[in-house]
Amino acid sequence: MMLSARVLQRVLRPNWRVLSCYSYGTVAKPKPHLNPDIQFNQIFINNEWHDSVSGKTFPTINPATGEKICDVAEGDKADVDKAVVAAQEAFQLGSAWRTMDASDRGVLINKLADLMERDRDYLASLETLDNGKPFHVAHAADLSLSIKCLRYYAGWTDKIHGKTIPIDGDYFCYTRHEPVGVCGQIIPWNFPLLMLCWKLGPALATGNTIVMKPAEQTPLTALYVANLIKEAGFPPGVVNMIPGYGPTAGAAIAEHMDVEKVAFTGSTEVGHIIQQAAGKSNLKKVTLELGGKSPNIIFSDADMHDAVEQSHFGLFFNQGQCCCAGSRTFVHESVYDEFVERSVERAKKRTIGNPFDDSNEQGPQVDEEQMNKILHLIDSGKKEGAKLLIGGNRYGDKGYFIEPTVFADVQDNMRIAKEEIFGPVMQIMKFKDINEVIKRANTTTYGLAAAVHTTDINKAIMIANGVRAGTVWVNCYDVFTTQAPFGGYKMSGSGRELGEYGLEAYTEVKTVTLKIPQKNS
Ligand code: NAP
Ligand code: MG
Repeated sequence: MMLSARVLQRVLRPNWRVLSCYSYGTVAKPKPHLNPDIQFNQIFINNEWHDSVSGKTFPTINPATGEKICDVAEGDKADVDKAVVAAQEAFQLGSAWRTMDASDRGVLINKLADLMERDRDYLASLETLDNGKPFHVAHAADLSLSIKCLRYYAGWTDKIHGKTIPIDGDYFCYTRHEPVGVCGQIIPWNFPLLMLCWKLGPALATGNTIVMKPAEQTPLTALYVANLIKEAGFPPGVVNMIPGYGPTAGAAIAEHMDVEKVAFTGSTEVGHIIQQAAGKSNLKKVTLELGGKSPNIIFSDADMHDAVEQSHFGLFFNQGQCCCAGSRTFVHESVYDEFVERSVERAKKRTIGNPFDDSNEQGPQVDEEQMNKILHLIDSGKKEGAKLLIGGNRYGDKGYFIEPTVFADVQDNMRIAKEEIFGPVMQIMKFKDINEVIKRANTTTYGLAAAVHTTDINKAIMIANGVRAGTVWVNCYDVFTTQAPFGGYKMSGSGRELGEYGLEAYTEVKTVTLKIPQKNS
């Protein structure tokens, strides 16, 4: 049975209304697998499954219970070396992948999207089990956006071309946009499938080969997709998947002399390490999508109901585990008290618990370490004098749940106003005028996203032009579509993912110049 987007929105809780920004299209009615069968837990190289060279494994945990789901092969440098050789062979001139028509690459990527669509219920269930995000969200948002991302890039494969250039002299000059070669891709745990598709889509569309490391906390959906890649018919070695830890397998990718590009999403701290590793090894190209402390600005003329709802969504979505979370909420002094009161009311209504229960908006944090880090930052907020209005504690004693938390009277110099919390913790600050709030919004080392809520177009444009961030939302939040680019200013990263811009990092431009023979010569 198929549900239209409108019906789906009615099925979801009313306050999921705001998720309409995800434009789901038509999706099959979700059927969760409560105990999804784990089919793949090894390393994927050359379209085959392998144990790690060391024989080591590591556990992956269900964050809703703290219990082990299964053990997974632990890749390290030796496995990365094997995968890079496979990816190099797949990239050889004359290989099946290099000689494939560009349009046929598009057919393969679309086939992969079809297979993810076929297994959508299972994939969403596996994502929920390994990551903790609510199943109905994984199914409606993560799977939709992942599949759409692949289809978007499938359409690009035969539209990537250079120019003919009228250079001086008797020459014919043209450019070719060629693949970079073997690309390393290191992804985080907050959107495991979506980050996988953001990375695979443009890299495959442009004809590269890939060695990818999923996050240690959430390897299972990436391994399942690896098998779909084989089923879709991609030649061996085009995509290789190495589960393992960052400082070992991840570092081996970043330091590798034969990996020609690395794309990383995760913390700014590790972003530094990746860029240094590239600098110390072969100067591989680096794109980074890192942290944020994004300002969300509410003016007194905003629609207050929408502003409260969007700000709640912009912070609490995905258990607060979003790089672009609106984690500095600046509210004009004339509506501050009202906004705080209504935000607390909204947070009180937030439902939390078993992520397979569709009535829950919030699941657990991804692991114990993240839970403890968040609780520690909540503690610092209390000690530094912010006013804790709701939440602040672990929820329950099993799994890694945290109560929806709201702080008011937050000052710019407090840790909770400066550091990325990556949890369900809202900071509300007061401002007086537009120049002041632009200045304060920009007083951060980050620059990933920003939002403004106002009915005054002039204010909206002043904020959009004034904030130093890669994305600005006006009267909305977290509007992600595969067609528009996303990425950070300052220490939030370098390069852009998604859209046509997302292709740039995966292509080299080659200039070819031919001498035109002159008459009588
Ligand atoms: P992280 O360490 O940056 O993890 C991201 C990815 O990088 C994972 O695959 C990780 O491997 C890998 N990695 C870690 N150290 C590495 C190294 N030395 N060389 C190469 N790769 C390495 O992030 P985290 O520790 O999971 O989370 C910490 C904080 O990062 C969060 O609290 C949040 O503030 C931020 N974060 C941001 C994003 C984002 O979307 N921008 C996503 C996740 C986290 P493992 O599998 O071993 O972790
Ligand atoms: Mg896990």
